[in-house]
Amino acid sequence: MMLLTRKARFSAAYLCRNPDWPEARNRRVYGTCAVGSGHGHDYVAEFTFGGPVDPRTGVVLNLTEVKRRLGDVIEPLDLSHLNHDHGALEGPAPTSERLVRYLWHALGSGTGPCRLASIRLHESRTRNIDYTGDDSMVYVTRIVEFNAAHRLHSIRLSDEENVRIFGKCNNPHGHGHNYELAVTVRGPVDEETGTVIDAGRFDDILREEVVDRYDHRHLNHDLEEFQTVNPTSEELLRAIWKRLLPFFEHPSLHRIRLVETSKNAFEYFGEEER
Ligand SMILES: [Zn+2]
Repeated sequence: MMLLTRKARFSAAYLCRNPDWPEARNRRVYGTCAVGSGHGHDYVAEFTFGGPVDPRTGVVLNLTEVKRRLGDVIEPLDLSHLNHDHGALEGPAPTSERLVRYLWHALGSGTGPCRLASIRLHESRTRNIDYTGDDSMVYVTRIVEFNAAHRLHSIRLSDEENVRIFGKCNNPHGHGHNYELAVTVRGPVDEETGTVIDAGRFDDILREEVVDRYDHRHLNHDLEEFQTVNPTSEELLRAIWKRLLPFFEHPSLHRIRLVETSKNAFEYFGEEER
């Protein structure tokens, strides 16, 4: 099977706020999306199609036809207000979970051998949703950043071995990174709220357990988990997984991804902690 991804962009305004709820519940469920009279996003939607390559044409699908179908779906959304301008999204909370489901059904999963396989909807640079047509398993990713110093040095190795393995990263006084952590949870969409996870609660957990703990720290000196453990990105991911896991039963913690530099990124699904 061949996969093909086509990107589409649109800008829209919206507000997520249930007028029947107290302010505190709106803030917990919708986070900053419940603030004021609304705000906007430059959405980016990635549509991935999968199928066999047609031996007559040499392509997996007719891109001209896909562009036309995508245009029919995307153009009415662009420069619109989601709460007011679209019947299917009308209501107090046109969340990205509802929006991605709308895109899926509006486009149609396709006929013939080539089908729509998934949509990734980027609401912003720091939040995206993955949808495969299954309402019981929707993926929500949130990205946070923190800056920290570390020195790669294992107490289980000799000084010579540390220098040989870690090179400049073994510098006795350490060095720093602007880390970027993407946390993905998965679960069904709650029909009342239109969300997989309460956005305000998700943000609170990541701020308290990750950003407040690691930002502007020296991992070797300031964190108890790295007193005897070498603070590599691999060990940092394992430590973060263990910290986050108790908070995510429903929805469950699916994946965490740490970007250490523009050249190094690490991904973890918690296999070693289960
Ligand atoms: Zn480093």
